[in-house]
Amino acid sequence: MAFLDAHPGLGYPAAAGLGLLVGSFLNVVILRLPRRLEWQWKRDAREILEIPELYEPPPPGIVVERSHCPHCGHALSWYENIPLLSWLALRGKCRSCKAPISIQYPLVELLTGLLFLACAWQFGFGWKGFGAMLLTSFLVALSGIDLRTRLLPDQLTLPLMWLGMVASVENLYVGQKSAMLGAMAGYLSLWSVYWVFKQLTGKEGMGHGDFKLLAALGAWTGLAGVLPTILLSSLVGAVVGSLWLAAKGKDKATPIPFGPYLAIAGWISFFWGKDLVGWYMRLAGLA
Ligand SMILES: [Zn+2]
Repeated sequence: MAFLDAHPGLGYPAAAGLGLLVGSFLNVVILRLPRRLEWQWKRDAREILEIPELYEPPPPGIVVERSHCPHCGHALSWYENIPLLSWLALRGKCRSCKAPISIQYPLVELLTGLLFLACAWQFGFGWKGFGAMLLTSFLVALSGIDLRTRLLPDQLTLPLMWLGMVASVENLYVGQKSAMLGAMAGYLSLWSVYWVFKQLTGKEGMGHGDFKLLAALGAWTGLAGVLPTILLSSLVGAVVGSLWLAAKGKDKATPIPFGPYLAIAGWISFFWGKDLVGWYMRLAGLA
């Protein structure tokens, strides 16, 4: 790692390349994790409702099974599975049946590559950089899953929170006390909004996954990062929401899940939270 720190000319391309590979794996997580969860929930529901056991073949596992074309089932060889390059070389079509391959694949790979580059740039190639890449990977997967299925699985949000807590034991980004209070404040702030909204309107405006995601982000950014994350997520939400309305027209616009906004805002607060607060204080004439 010290070697990479001394030779950033090698380190940065390595970080971006690692990001492309991890992005390729995150694509699989985004597509397969919700399907596996749904399969388990249905099986559990049948058991609770005492509906006779029904054999339903399990959907593909996340790590073991090879990627294949969802259209014709053609198994991808290694050269069809290279992040970004394969999609470009195949011009976004399956080699066997010519069905279009979703733009999601190269986009997630490219995004993860760029974000990993930013992690190395900001935090270097040691544990701090590695932790930032781990956080980034979870946030990309959670955003993708929320956009596709409106779920923020506990299987991702809860480990992300514990990982933030573990990082705080070593005082990697914030101290233990700040991480613990951040997780608590993150959860309770959105939970209160949800509860008040529900009392007033009788509707559920937000999912429990959102509280858990903000709790996880609070563990990584510390108590001081929670408020900037909430403010930024509303800002990002307002900007994206109005662009979405402008693009789709009012009647076609469906509400967009909140998870990706939280993820983007949390990521920005994690990277530049201290600068943001200082900048805001100067702007408001408070410092
Ligand atoms: Zn195909």
